[in-house]
Amino acid sequence: MSATYEGGCFCRKVRYRLTSAPMFVHCCHCRNCQNQTGSAFVINAIIETGRIELLAGRPEITTVESGSGRPHDVYRCPDCRTAVWSDYGRRPGMRFVRVGTLDDPATLPPDVHIFTRSKLPWVRLPEGVPAYDVYYETDRLWPAASLERRRAALG
Ligand SMILES: [Zn+2]
Ligand SMILES: [Zn+2]
Repeated sequence: MSATYEGGCFCRKVRYRLTSAPMFVHCCHCRNCQNQTGSAFVINAIIETGRIELLAGRPEITTVESGSGRPHDVYRCPDCRTAVWSDYGRRPGMRFVRVGTLDDPATLPPDVHIFTRSKLPWVRLPEGVPAYDVYYETDRLWPAASLERRRAALG
């Protein structure tokens, strides 16, 4: 059984399909993500750019600054302005897809919770999912196959 990962923006002008499962899924509780989404956290599926198949529409880029000071390009529907994915730090081979834009966001639960130091106090984290005050070492957490994909994606 293989899941299909289709999604899109709120007005449905932008539609996409992920052609495989992502490498890893982040739930980020940092202040920037809270501020940019207007919510408690963001859920990002990290996947190769080439595994995002655009089915309709063409997202537009809004550039903001990331926490590290590098550019963070947010890809938004030109009409309803829903953010569908991000490029953190201009790494052309890799995208952070907003899991909330999937038709079925429950198919991609977080593999890790990060920046829990700014987690809202009423959010309870699930047991058994790693959680970090700030960030973590990719090499220690990611499955070998995902690390291999990441190396290939970053060139
Ligand atoms: Zn839209
Ligand atoms: Zn964040």
